[in-house]
Formats: sequence, structure tokens, C-alpha cells
Amino acid sequence: MRARLREELRRLWLEPRDPRLLQLGFSVLFMLDMGLRIAGDLELRTGPLIGLVLVPTAWVVALVLPWTRTPEWCRLALLVLDIGIVGLSRLDPQGGSALLVVIPALWLGFAYGNRGALITAVATVLLVMVPGVLYIGATGINLSRSVTTTVIAVTVSLAIANVIQRVRGGQELIELQRRVGEAILDTVDVGLILLDGEGRYLTMNRRHHDFMRLAFPHGHSGQAGQLGAVYHEDGETLVQHEDMPTFRATQGEEFDDQLIWVGSDPLTRRALSVSSRVVREESGRFAGAALAYKDVTDFMRALEVKEEFVASVSHELRTPLTSIHGFTSIVLERDDLPEEVVHQLGVVKRNVDRLDRLVADLLQTAQVERGLVHLDRERTDVAALVRQSIEAARPAIDRAGLSLSSSVPDHLVVMVDPQRFAQVVDNLLSNAVKYTPSGGRIEVDLSVAHERVELVVRDTGIGISMRDRSHVFSRFFRSRHASQRSIQGIGLGLSITKAIVDSHGGRIEVESEEGRGSTFRVRLPLDAAAERRVPDQEPVSVT
Ligand code: ADP
Repeated sequence: MRARLREELRRLWLEPRDPRLLQLGFSVLFMLDMGLRIAGDLELRTGPLIGLVLVPTAWVVALVLPWTRTPEWCRLALLVLDIGIVGLSRLDPQGGSALLVVIPALWLGFAYGNRGALITAVATVLLVMVPGVLYIGATGINLSRSVTTTVIAVTVSLAIANVIQRVRGGQELIELQRRVGEAILDTVDVGLILLDGEGRYLTMNRRHHDFMRLAFPHGHSGQAGQLGAVYHEDGETLVQHEDMPTFRATQGEEFDDQLIWVGSDPLTRRALSVSSRVVREESGRFAGAALAYKDVTDFMRALEVKEEFVASVSHELRTPLTSIHGFTSIVLERDDLPEEVVHQLGVVKRNVDRLDRLVADLLQTAQVERGLVHLDRERTDVAALVRQSIEAARPAIDRAGLSLSSSVPDHLVVMVDPQRFAQVVDNLLSNAVKYTPSGGRIEVDLSVAHERVELVVRDTGIGISMRDRSHVFSRFFRSRHASQRSIQGIGLGLSITKAIVDSHGGRIEVESEEGRGSTFRVRLPLDAAAERRVPDQEPVSVT
């Protein structure tokens, strides 16, 4: 209600089509002039009396007419009538105040610009000055009043016309800039939206309209966080209110690459990678957010095809590998083989083992990509697992001329998938061995810190450059150093390790200095239900 009243008043004040406010002001001042004249015992002549009748009539007309639909000439006629009424009020032997023409003059300048000033000049001369001079006579004072009043009215009209012209010029410039901005936004192939501080949609480009139609086929309220056909990365789980990118953005969150699917039809749905940036006022107050939606459907589909291909190829490779492995082992068991053949078969077996690990990694990567890190959690003594991994790695450590020290408690029982956990330790340990030149040192620590299991694998190897550090957990990433030194690997171990740690609700971090070594730190939440025994003796340190 208050808002409507405010809006109505704003319209009355700013809308040049609606002269009701003007007419009210004019009527009040005219009546005041007449009232004062009557109070001053001035006898009113016919002219002022007609004016006295016409003023309320004009006010009623102004009130009744629907100004937004009334033809233009009606308003012009009303304004000229006002000037005429001022003229009538001056038809008095002593003359009256003609300054009231300033009000219609203002409005004429406001509504019609310089044209309005011209109309003011003509109407004031013809309706106020000439009749006044004719009726009262061309006395010096009368002529002077006539000229100054006309000049004042025209000046006021011109002044307001000028101001309005500038304001409108400014608005046109802003409008032009807005259109240029919109045109630029429409040329980019990324959906863009701008939210205000309350989460209302301020603007969006054409590309984003397409996404909106897919996500909200039944329309959108224009408020951030509305639920629709928006799915998580798996393409099946609907995104809840608090995970909607627009809602996150209104909470002041800045993020990159939130992957969503929009649309429920599998044939037409699109995959979008969303980023958000917050807009703040100078004072730091949240003023809104800008979101960019990049269409990554083709990439996602290509990825799907690649994953399926990798998965099926790896699967197909496994069967012949298993049989080569099995038969090589059987042949190796014979004791009538010449030594040279045993050696050659040993090479075959080692390479088959390597190929087998590679295929296993590829298979697992394909599963991880499909979000299939399946965990069989059980109460596991992770301390025992770490010790076993160390023992298994010891031959390789010795061959590489490295030393190893470890600090592992006797027992540490937590709820994890034992096979996956062992894989994490094996991967980190085998990397430490691979990337540490002969004479280096490896350290393995397992402990409990801040209600978390902490596994640290530290080496004094080649280290990882600052630039590479953010990529080491990406699939198929290998540092330049690793490739240059022909160290074996295809860049899958750490991505698998990270996926396993993530699916346990943990975190993996790396600290490193090029040429000085690396430290990989894994933290897993300690399941409250699992019992744990902290070391009851000093940590073992083996060198
Ligand atoms: P791979 O070892 O098969 O190349 P990973 O995913 O295990 O694949 O490692 C990815 C990359 O991270 C490696 O190629 C190497 O560049 C770097 N990296 C991993 N561990 C270490 C380490 N301990 N020291 C130095 N670089 C490492």
C-alpha cells in the first residue's frame, strides 16, 4: 500500500503526461491571489471572476481525465488555458500579478522542451500581456510589468527545458551503454546472469535464456535459488536449494566449475560448468553476484565415450593378461628349464605384472570418473597395513639405494576399506621410491592428530615445482621432470589416491620444494564407532 502510494506520487512528480500536481499548485496559488485581493477590499471585475470560476473547473477536469490515455492537445490546451486564466485575472484597472504564468511555463518547458518555451512566449504575450495593455492602457508600469513577466516566464521555461534535455541526454547515453553491454553479452557463448544484493535476477544474456528454458520449463520467479530441472554431476540427483549455484552466489560464495545438468530430457539436456564472482560496494557490503554458465555438454559426452572405451578396453585386456600371467608362472615352476629361459620368462612375468597394474589403474580410473569408488569399510588396523606396505616396498627401496625410516603405532583401528587404504599407502610409497634418486631418504609416519588419522610420506627426491603442484592429482598428469628422466608411470596413481581419500571423507595435500623433496599428507576422519589404540611404545624407527 505504502509502496503504491509512493509510486503514484513519484509518477505524479516525474510524469510530464500527468498535469494534476501542476494544476493543484496553480489553483491554490490563484485562489490565494484572489483571496488576498478580496481581503484587501479590491472589487473583482468580470475577468478575474471568470478566472475564479475557470480555475476549479480546470482542476476538476485535470483530476477526472485519464492522462495516460488523453490526447496530447488536451494537456497543451489545459496549460494554455492556465495562461489565459492568468490573463483574465489581470483584467483589472490596477492590474494583477501575472507571475503565476511561471507554473504553466515550467510545465510547458518540462513537457515540450524548447517548443514549450516558444508556446509559453506566444501564449503569455497574446493571452496575458496584450489584453492587459489593451485593458489597462500602455502605462509605463504596465508595460514594464508585461515585458518582465514574459521574459521571466520564457526564461524559466527555457531553463527547465534545458535541464530536462540534459537529464534525458544522460539517460539516453546510459540506455545506449546498456544496449551496447547487452549486445556484447549476447555475442558470448557463455550464459551470464547478474544478481542483486537480494538475489533478484537483474539481467541475463540470450544464451542464458536458453538454459533457463531447459531448467525451468514452467517459468522462473526471478529470485535466486528456485528449484527446477537442475541435476548434479551424476545427471540424476536433483540439486537442492542450498546447492543451487545462484543461491550459493547470494550467500557470498565464489566458486569455479560447479558442474550441473539442466533439463530433464536426456536428448536435449545440457551440462554446464558454473562459476560465480561476488560484487561488493566500496564499503565491502555484498551488492550482488555475477555467474557464468559454460556449456560443456560435448566435452562431457566425449568424456563418457572415452570412459566407456577405456573401461571396455581395460576389461578386454585383463582376460588375456591373466592367462599369460598364469601360464608364465606355471612354466616357471618347472625345474628343467635352462637358466637363460628362466631369466627371459622372469622378464616376461615382470612386464605382465606391470601391464596388469596399468590396466588395473585404467579400469579404476574409469570407475572413479563415473563416481564409482565403491568402499567396503570395515574395522581395519591401518598400522598393520602401513607396515605391510613398507615391507612389500623394501626390495624396491633397497634396489634404488634409498633408506627408509618410519614411525607407525602398534595398532590403529579405524573404519576404512582395507584394500583401498593399502592402495593409498602403496601409491605414495612407490612414488617416493620412483622420484627419489639413489642415496635419498624416505619417511613414513602414521599418527592420530586432531581426531584424524594422519599418514605422511616424505622423501628427499626431485620434488615438484610450484606450477605442477596443483596438477599432480589430475588424471594423466606427469611433471616435465618425471617424463624427462624416463621414470615409469602414466599419471594415474595420485588421481586414484585422491579419489579414494575423498570418498573416505578425507583430504590429501602435498608440500614440496623442487630438488629437495616432497611430503604427501593424508588425513582421514577417525570413525567414532571404531576403537583405536595409540602407541603404547615409542614409534619404531627403521633405517
Ligand atoms: P605416475 O607416478 O604414474 O606418473 P602419479 O599420479 O602417481 O603418476 O603422479 C603424478 C605426477 O606427480 C608424477 O608424474 C610426478 O611428476 C609427480 N609426483 C608424484 N609423486 C611424486 C614425488 N614423491 N616426488 C616428485 N614428484 C612426484
